Amino acid sequence: MPDNRLYSYAAVLMGSPIQLKLFSSDEALASRVFNLIKKYEDLFTVNRTPSQVMAINHAAGLHPVVVSRPVYELIKCAKAASMLPESAFNLAIGPLVKLWRIGFKGDSVPLAEEIAARLRLTRAQDVVLDDAASSVYLTQPGMEIDLGAIAKGYIADRVRDYLQQQGTFTGLINLGGNVQTLATPQKTWSIGLKKPFGAADELVGTIDVANKSVVTSGIYERWFEQDGKRWHHILDPRTGYPLENELESVTVISADSLDGDIWTTLLFGLGVGKGMRALREHEDIEAIFITKNRDIILSSQRQFRYTHSDDRYRLIDCTV
Ligand code: AMP
Ligand code: MG
Repeated sequence: MPDNRLYSYAAVLMGSPIQLKLFSSDEALASRVFNLIKKYEDLFTVNRTPSQVMAINHAAGLHPVVVSRPVYELIKCAKAASMLPESAFNLAIGPLVKLWRIGFKGDSVPLAEEIAARLRLTRAQDVVLDDAASSVYLTQPGMEIDLGAIAKGYIADRVRDYLQQQGTFTGLINLGGNVQTLATPQKTWSIGLKKPFGAADELVGTIDVANKSVVTSGIYERWFEQDGKRWHHILDPRTGYPLENELESVTVISADSLDGDIWTTLLFGLGVGKGMRALREHEDIEAIFITKNRDIILSSQRQFRYTHSDDRYRLIDCTV
């Protein structure tokens, strides 16, 4: 008899809770998935040595570093996203992330001069790529690549591919906020959207998806308070300070979680108005903006169900 129960496996990896859901009990598959995630984390991390990305950063201003194909391809994609006009995404943001230390011990608002000095080390065009050699060269000493905004998306996609290869056609992986789903017409997934600054399990609503990724970036995720102000972890590469606009969170629904991860940062930088305009040219990308005014703004006709009785939130349909 087929087993239709949902099995949930959990681990803490990349500093985040990771959850894998499958419709059959398969400990061995779950542990292979967690090992795959660990393997990728070891390539991309910038928080402990040795990783290939750390090797690139250590060789900044000195020499190019040959890296494996996945690392090269992800960096190439990240550089392309960083070079888009008005892009708030910057793969070379590392020196500023390290300076702010948001979410790590000892975070405080840096001096304006320190920020200005580090800004000069965050030019995406100073990340020099060589396709033939599969090498990456940071031309200025002190430069650092940070893939923190997209590594989870990339890995979520690889987990999806792996599950498919293994003959698993319904499943969900949640990499600390990056959700990727495998679904059949009989089984879609209901994904909760967190209430910004709410309790851990508090949701504003849910959406149903099938074979889609759902990624949320929010200013409530990592922050500290100083001088009566909250300083969050999504930095504006133009100013060196946390991005400041009307948004509290952006959720992106897309086929690939990597696209979702890039788009959440791009949309954060654009804000609601420009973001909605940009999305008109990208029908494969859907977004849900939540603003500080508690407006929930959908870029597509997607059904959104409130699960929360907080009636201060308003749903604004901009699709008509
Ligand atoms: P996410 O949680 O996906 O929004 O990614 C946030 C992480 O991305 C931060 O913790 C930093 O490591 C990194 N980051 C911060 N600001 C930027 C930015 N403007 N562009 C690219 N990466 C960033
Ligand atoms: Mg991201």
